[in-house]
Amino acid sequence: MPGPDPDTILVHYSEIALKLGHREQFEGRLLANMRSALEGLPVGEVNAVYGRMLVRLGDADADTVVRRLSVVPGVANLLVCVACEATMDALENTVSAMAEGWKPAGSFRVQVKRGDKRFPLESPEVASRLGALLKAASGAGVNLRNADETVFVEITHAGAFVSLRKVDTCGGLPVTTGGRVLVLLSGGIDSPVAGLRMLRRGCRIDAIHFHSVPYLNDASIDKARQLAAVIARGQMPLNLALVAFGDVQSEIVRFVPRPLRVVLYRRMMMRIACKVATRFGAGALVTGESLGQVASQTLPNLGVIESAATMPVLRPLVGMDKLEISRYAQKWGTYEISIVPDQDCCTLFVPKHPATAAKANEVAAAESLIDVARLVEQALAATEFEKIAADWSA
Ligand code: ATP
Ligand code: MG
Repeated sequence: MPGPDPDTILVHYSEIALKLGHREQFEGRLLANMRSALEGLPVGEVNAVYGRMLVRLGDADADTVVRRLSVVPGVANLLVCVACEATMDALENTVSAMAEGWKPAGSFRVQVKRGDKRFPLESPEVASRLGALLKAASGAGVNLRNADETVFVEITHAGAFVSLRKVDTCGGLPVTTGGRVLVLLSGGIDSPVAGLRMLRRGCRIDAIHFHSVPYLNDASIDKARQLAAVIARGQMPLNLALVAFGDVQSEIVRFVPRPLRVVLYRRMMMRIACKVATRFGAGALVTGESLGQVASQTLPNLGVIESAATMPVLRPLVGMDKLEISRYAQKWGTYEISIVPDQDCCTLFVPKHPATAAKANEVAAAESLIDVARLVEQALAATEFEKIAADWSA
């Protein structure tokens, strides 16, 4: 960027403002979440100012700060700014300095927001004066309707800000305002996206992963850890429960007819996950199921699987197709982790033709052949718990 280096990030949030009555609580949460996302970076003050948040960059690198804040749910967009006093003189000086060497890609416009109504000039006048200055300095044309570039000016109670760079971020609601949920995290593409979508709705995420060590290798565990570390970027460190599921599966294989096995695996996962969720204080499970994607994800099967759970099962991807889900995974950085081949526990002992319409009475009969309570207890007793912190290295 030409001229002076940016020194402030101005953060806008959207949906929070709609939560009338709880606004302060939401803002407080967002501020705390932004501070924790920036932990370890040499930033200056991070404050709320009349409907915006201000992050003073201090010695921190602007791109790093933008990257961190971009995934904090509740942050709708960011302006990378140069701050100055809220006077017309100071604005003109700042804009002149920024105009040095500035070459907009075509036409431009100046967009002014006068948040502090004590400022003596109205927004259109500020815009036209600063626009004239920029036009003279750069030779670029002004186009108010269809500009190629926009110069943003905000006049607030904490000073004025000029920006040549706006970044649209994840939006949504600040984490914890939506409660706490447990994501069933496989190493696949879908479940991390399901978790991220609930994160955006303000849910604090914990995760549970079922693996088949020692029947299979531990590649899926490693992926679950890496995926959890991406989800953790948008919140605080998350709890990851690692459940050895091979013994449950082999007992099902011994006693249960082939077509019903997948549904029974899933029902066992639900039972174990509900217990772990309760332990974490989570109020719902989240899965990456999407209607019709595979044989186990038909309406009748989803119903039979869900009936083993004792808390709500949220399926944020239920109406999305694989392409949409994959795009979202790419955008959030989970895709590359998910596509690494592993040995998913569900590939172990899976029949060629699973039931697509499991019936409740058949499932109950099949489950009477195994010792459900003992298997759940054994799996829980052997479950390992880890705390996974955000990983920004990738
Ligand atoms: P994914 O891409 O998330 O693995 P999928 O399309 O492969 O999903 P399934 O294998 O039928 O679908 O799994 C459906 C859902 O069940 C997953 O999205 C996930 O929430 C949960 N699940 C499946 N396997 C596991 C596992 N090993 N550990 C934890 N959850 C799992
Ligand atoms: Mg899977």
